[in-house]
Amino acid sequence: MIPGTLIDTLRTSAHAVILTGSGTSAESGVPTFRDAQTGLWSQYRPEELATPEAFESDPGLVWDWYQSRRKVIAAAEPNAGHYAIAALEQLFPKLTLITQNVDGLHQRAGSRNVIEFHGNINRSRCTVERVIVEPRPEDDGSPPACPNCGAPLRPDVVWFGEDIPHEALSAANSAVNHCDAIFVIGTSALVQPAADLPFKACARGAKVIEINTDATPLSASAHFVLQGTSGRILPALLEAFSQPAQTPGDS
Ligand code: NAD
Repeated sequence: MIPGTLIDTLRTSAHAVILTGSGTSAESGVPTFRDAQTGLWSQYRPEELATPEAFESDPGLVWDWYQSRRKVIAAAEPNAGHYAIAALEQLFPKLTLITQNVDGLHQRAGSRNVIEFHGNINRSRCTVERVIVEPRPEDDGSPPACPNCGAPLRPDVVWFGEDIPHEALSAANSAVNHCDAIFVIGTSALVQPAADLPFKACARGAKVIEINTDATPLSASAHFVLQGTSGRILPALLEAFSQPAQTPGDS
């Protein structure tokens, strides 16, 4: 299932980047945005709720949607794909993990130095002072008020139309400007600017490895396309990559 030429490529890669999207957490039971929303939320599209405009016009609705997503995430566990990604850190001289996910499952699986490109749903911040408020005041309105200034709190995530936090963007750009290989896992490669990162790496000559259940706009440019779930493919890739390299004398 894992091409030997891919393993050869990885063995000569000093710096690997892994870019993940919501498909990476699908096998943990955290729905992707493209999956149909259920129950109360089936009448909304995420693109209508995850925007500054939606929060401005109906903060309670948006806050309650995030609360329902937080509950799903709190009940979820990292899957085999998350654990394999954490283990890959030991196999490259340098590995940079960039995630579009806001669920914190990579960190719970043991990944360190995660670039949270779109923030983290478990953090909240003051809409006026912009500072993180931890712990989040519970049962104190929807949305709760900042304990310091009384302004509404919001989830510390990047909404459609908002800028990526400067530090995350610059760390991600630096990684794609120096990597030898980039894995693109469980992302539709549609949401900008994350979608551009693998194309930038590819243009510099880095090898692109896509892992996804479906084809994406990136697939035609990828050097390796592994079709299937990340929870199945990543442990197999880890296993193949962990084997000692064969030398010409080996039979
Ligand atoms: P997306 O919903 O646009 O695309 C998901 C991709 O994952 C699709 O290409 C799909 O084919 C693929 N996929 C589904 N199940 C898979 C599996 N088991 N293994 C491998 N691939 C699988 O998600 P996106 O590209 O991450 O972009 C949407 C935005 O949604 C991001 O900004 C992200 O912040 C946000 N989001 C995050 C979470 C989360 O944190 N878990 C959940 C939903 C949405």
